[in-house]
Amino acid sequence: MRRVKIIATYGPSLDDDKLKSIVTKVDCIRVNLSHVKDIDELKLISDRIDDARDRYNLYLAKMADLPGVKIRLGDIKDINIRKGDIISFSNKKVEGAVPVDYDNLFEDISEESIVVIGDGELSFEVVEKGSNVIKAKALNDGILKARRGFSIKNGKLSAKVPTREDIELFKAVRKLNFDYVAESFVSSALDIRKLRDIDKDINIIAKVETLEGLNNIDNIIDEADGLMIARGDLAITVSLEKIPYIQKFLVKKARAARKLVIVATQLMSSMVSNTKPTRAEVNDVANAVYEGVDAVMLSEETAIGRYPIETVEQLNRIIEENQLFGVDELPLPTESPYDMIASAAASIVNSKFVEHIVSLTSTGATAKRVSAIRPNADIIAVTLSRKVARMLSLYYGVIPKLIDEDPSRYKDNISKLIEAARSRLKELNINRYVLLYGKPNVAGSTNTLTLEA
Ligand code: PEP
Repeated sequence: MRRVKIIATYGPSLDDDKLKSIVTKVDCIRVNLSHVKDIDELKLISDRIDDARDRYNLYLAKMADLPGVKIRLGDIKDINIRKGDIISFSNKKVEGAVPVDYDNLFEDISEESIVVIGDGELSFEVVEKGSNVIKAKALNDGILKARRGFSIKNGKLSAKVPTREDIELFKAVRKLNFDYVAESFVSSALDIRKLRDIDKDINIIAKVETLEGLNNIDNIIDEADGLMIARGDLAITVSLEKIPYIQKFLVKKARAARKLVIVATQLMSSMVSNTKPTRAEVNDVANAVYEGVDAVMLSEETAIGRYPIETVEQLNRIIEENQLFGVDELPLPTESPYDMIASAAASIVNSKFVEHIVSLTSTGATAKRVSAIRPNADIIAVTLSRKVARMLSLYYGVIPKLIDEDPSRYKDNISKLIEAARSRLKELNINRYVLLYGKPNVAGSTNTLTLEA
């Protein structure tokens, strides 16, 4: 089985047939709320995903990505820019100035800041900061277009997330049973805590895309359920050349803390309009596999690309081919009996007596601990909770299996639960495995390891 999970972003490319097909090939569908008009539209999208998922009884996860503070240019007619041109920007109504939709503009920008437009198609160096207007010199030729992103390189972002809009969306997302919420432009653990205070159960992924986020990474990792390395905005706020080592640094940190880690953006960009990726893209994906990420994420490729299904199939092949060589090893702390039992299971499969690790899990905690070791085996997470099965579908190497949805039937009856798991595994032709279990429905009780071979 493919061990690194795939997240596909929802969008107009996924008509009914393509959505039905893609849900069978990926582990999570992400809805980027920056492109959703209102809560009614969000509900329609969520229902479409649920329908496609339930048609095949899948444990596919749903992720909602909150917009956060995205600074944009206002409505302008295209302006042809030549290197050296001086352009005025303002967040006030000033004749002749290009409007910027951001209240804290004058607070966050300073003389000599570099402003990056869109994905980097234009850059400007600030040469003068007045009280109403910021003057900046173009560093290259290009066209300034309405509503493009406006980023301040190496600058601080004083506006905080979650914004009021994020909180409204978050409340809607909870009601629609999303399994994950990604929070954009996180700068501290407090940003995540503000969402947790509204809902303690939903899994929160911190998108790392600002300098403050990088500076506070340890606290953010402690608070979040996982990290998304949002290489699009990150490449703008730091710089393109730094992305490879920042990615390595973040993957290592997240893995050491046993948190989910996702690499996002431009993994297969050329497949937006081509049927094949470039050699460099294949290498980029393989590199993420060797680094041991939990998941890779497609954006435009599946949202607006011409070949969403082909992209996912190609991505799948790259992962399967490269996972055979294992992933970078990382020493993990073995501070609790749960860690010891997880690493004992991993060492048994590595010695090839058995082929799978099976965890009977009520909250998913044991399956996550085993996944963190990145064992050379599939991890079958047998659970009685559909919610847990969906959550686990994003973790490295974990294959969730729901055996029943009525936990009361197994109350204090571990033998009955093991029997149910055994017969389900037999049906799946899984016969040689390490079985991990504790008391049914009791979180953190895993204390038994048996060899079923
Ligand atoms: C990114 O910036 O890489 C990213 C994943 O965020 P978004 O798609 O919201 O720009």
